[in-house]
Amino acid sequence: MSLKMKNRNLEEDLQPLFHFIDNSPTAYHAVANLGKMLDEAGFEKLEEKKKWDVRLGEKYYVNRNDSSVIAFTVPAQMPRGFHMMAAHSDSPCFKLKEAPEIAVDDCYIKLNVEKYGGMILSTWLDRPLSIAGRLVFRGKQGMESRLVNLDKDVAMIPNVAIHMNRDMNKGVEYNPQTDMEPIIGSADAKGVYLKALAEQAGMADYEIMGADLFLYNRDKCRIVGIDNAFIAGPRLDDLECAFAGMAALVKEEPKEYVNVCAVFDNEEVGSGTKQGADSTFLKDVLERLSGKLSIDAEEYRCMLADSFLISADNAHALHPNHPEKADTVNRPIMNNGIVIKHHGSQRYATDAVSAAVMKDICLRAGVLYQTYANRSDIAGGSTLGNISTAQVSVNTVDIGLAQLAMHSAFETAGAADVGYLIKALCTFYRS
Ligand code: ZN
Repeated sequence: MSLKMKNRNLEEDLQPLFHFIDNSPTAYHAVANLGKMLDEAGFEKLEEKKKWDVRLGEKYYVNRNDSSVIAFTVPAQMPRGFHMMAAHSDSPCFKLKEAPEIAVDDCYIKLNVEKYGGMILSTWLDRPLSIAGRLVFRGKQGMESRLVNLDKDVAMIPNVAIHMNRDMNKGVEYNPQTDMEPIIGSADAKGVYLKALAEQAGMADYEIMGADLFLYNRDKCRIVGIDNAFIAGPRLDDLECAFAGMAALVKEEPKEYVNVCAVFDNEEVGSGTKQGADSTFLKDVLERLSGKLSIDAEEYRCMLADSFLISADNAHALHPNHPEKADTVNRPIMNNGIVIKHHGSQRYATDAVSAAVMKDICLRAGVLYQTYANRSDIAGGSTLGNISTAQVSVNTVDIGLAQLAMHSAFETAGAADVGYLIKALCTFYRS
């Protein structure tokens, strides 16, 4: 195949992922877009507050807080257990505080924001930002919410000029309260952003009873590298894995297991919310669907013992300028396939058994795999695997796709890896 042809195929293959991430500025939007994928694939939407009717051979999904979603497909025969994958819908960003407008010297309006998750602060400076989230209002059925997205370059967090801080390039400590407030307009701009959001939601600003609003980077995902080896974009962690999970779920018919794809909100702030991985959401869904299939309590426990969870959250790739930050041997490379994460103190849930199962899935799918471990003197992050198993205890592997600059406003990953993950998850769901 010619390089030109190869590149055209690559762009085509990546288009659905790019479209999803570009249009998912917040966890609410990500879950709405995953819902569209599921609707198009004929999944039936269930409501947590209504009784369910779950039948063999059918497919369903349910949201919680409109920011987490669990989709599942039931095989035509009574299931033996659950084949599950989990990812997260949220990314580090800035949340607007209540009544966020601050006037500066009667000449600017800026916004009072706070950190959501652990981002690299400097990457949010000097780039056009927008505002998205949800507005809550009093509807006919009580409180209702509507998604909003200004989708326009409305805010900037400006650096201080180097002339005012000559030590700038020796490293700056950014204060999230004083250094990170975005300017959104002149003194005349007071109230304008809220009016614009309300108008988009089809209401007046005084009708807004509540708001979860966030700053986001409007940069689009793109292919990067002289040989098109990489992709770059905002929120790759973890929308890449969330997309791959749903893409595989809608593609594969379940055989002997209920296939489940769970995308949780609030991983970046510890997962401890009602819709996070540490909530009862997954447990509630599995118990309810089992009850509807007349599976009794003991059978349900047998099923859990015969289940497997792939927790997919991006992993640190070997950094070109800082290879010393990586473990001596277990140092993932972008485009070298699925990363199986290990941690001696079990912050990653992987053990010998679950690693072996994952390797077997990769081998059967014909995709590459590699391993990650922190340097022994670096604490590293945590993820979904061991948190969700605290609620639903099943054999779990923590995996991810190798990426650079995790929690930057603009991250870089391998162009081939998301395809590998979809292939591996299809094999998993098919088996
Ligand atoms: Zn993540």
